[in-house]
Amino acid sequence: MKTASAVMYNSESANTIDTWLAVRDKLKSKYGEAIFKSWLGKLDFISLTNGELILSAPTRFIKEWIYNYYSHIIQNLWYEYDKSIRHLDIIVDNGSSKKSIISPSVTAHKSMLDSSDNTIPTEEMVFSSLDKRFTFENFVVGSPNELAYAAARATAESSKVQSESNPLFLYGGVGLGKTHLMHAIAWHIHETTPWRKVVYMSAEKFMYQFVQALRNKDIMSFKEKFRSVDVLMIDDVQFICGKDSTQEEFFHTFNALVDNNRQIVISCDRSPSDLEGIEERIRSRLGWGLVIDVHSTTYELRLGILESKVEQLDCHVPKIVLEFLASKITSNVRELEGALNKVVAHSTFVKKEINLENTQEILRDLLRANERVITIEEIQKRIAERYSLRVADMSSSKKLRIVARPRQIAMYLSKMLTPRSLSEIGRKFGGKDHTTVLHAIRKIEELCSSDNEFNEEIQMLIRMFQH
Ligand code: ADP
Ligand code: MG
Repeated sequence: MKTASAVMYNSESANTIDTWLAVRDKLKSKYGEAIFKSWLGKLDFISLTNGELILSAPTRFIKEWIYNYYSHIIQNLWYEYDKSIRHLDIIVDNGSSKKSIISPSVTAHKSMLDSSDNTIPTEEMVFSSLDKRFTFENFVVGSPNELAYAAARATAESSKVQSESNPLFLYGGVGLGKTHLMHAIAWHIHETTPWRKVVYMSAEKFMYQFVQALRNKDIMSFKEKFRSVDVLMIDDVQFICGKDSTQEEFFHTFNALVDNNRQIVISCDRSPSDLEGIEERIRSRLGWGLVIDVHSTTYELRLGILESKVEQLDCHVPKIVLEFLASKITSNVRELEGALNKVVAHSTFVKKEINLENTQEILRDLLRANERVITIEEIQKRIAERYSLRVADMSSSKKLRIVARPRQIAMYLSKMLTPRSLSEIGRKFGGKDHTTVLHAIRKIEELCSSDNEFNEEIQMLIRMFQH
């Protein structure tokens, strides 16, 4: 089998990559963004040799699903462009394969790679990627984030690296201020000790740059430039999970910097111990320094943030409206800010004072989403969508695995996410007995404990409903 790197470099394969990109586009428009993102978009191109097309999927679960459901469609689409195709095989590649130096997923980002530059950011580029508003001054401190704030400040203020707080590892859910704090560190260092070289980048960007350096056979200068920084900040490090060679390079860079007593700051959507798809030695190394959890916001913090935003926007919003927003929009700060901006923009536009009534009107959809109660019907609908079934299949008694398994998953989620009893759930799934529901729940629990990938899938579904 050819490796992905070999395929990328020979000239005839440029066509193959284009075919792959075209097929992907077709799949996306055929099935829509959601299904594409959950399933088909996770496929990577591996090789095409003598009519045998090999794609990879990140987990066995996804592989099987696509294989059973979409393989003939992929083959047909491919055939439209390239009549040589005879057979499609899908392998599982969770990033641990050493076959190729370039992670196959790179091929999917070809256009992005082509347009990105090959240099490590110069100082200017570093600062152009920082948001001017994300400073310590604009960060509102409350009990959920005070530790993170204090640690970020201490890191920004001390030019001496303390080994016990290296790396500084900030983690927490989306929209809680991790990126804001990282930018704030960069701005502060830039203002107070401008000679120190700070590099801030997302883990994704790290990956693209690394891959491009590989492509241009310029890995030495990539390493050199990285290793001369004083403070390296990598945002959303979870993105390198499962990206084998990027992980490895990140780890080398990381170690070289730490050995030279340079500061590392990392953000992530979960704690080091919850990171999966990452080598054990890297995972444990990430947790050696100061690991801080940015907690979900409280009502007080949300109100504080709104008040500070109103001041920045220099507009008038009645206190009762702020209190209303702080109590209703609880998901994260990004949404909260979005809601406030929307109300302010609307009132400016229609030249009307903001009050509770028009706020409720303007934010009707958003408020509904934040109030959302999960129903069995909703679970059935979304699970059916996700596994390309009809909603009616959820109430059927088809025993075929591709129908029965999602139905069991939906039953399990109904028990997990709604207050309904086993009998009530059974009724909603086509009048089944409560023992059938119980059996489904046991089955899913069993699969979760014996099959890591399956478990991941279930956890992901739970998160999907809770957001
Ligand atoms: P994360 O990186 O954790 O997903 P961000 O740092 O991007 O979240 O924050 C999302 C938005 O919320 C940003 O506009 C940020 O300025 C704002 N924000 C989050 N926390 C705070 C806070 N404590 N004070 C002020 N703004 C905040
Ligand atoms: Mg972020």
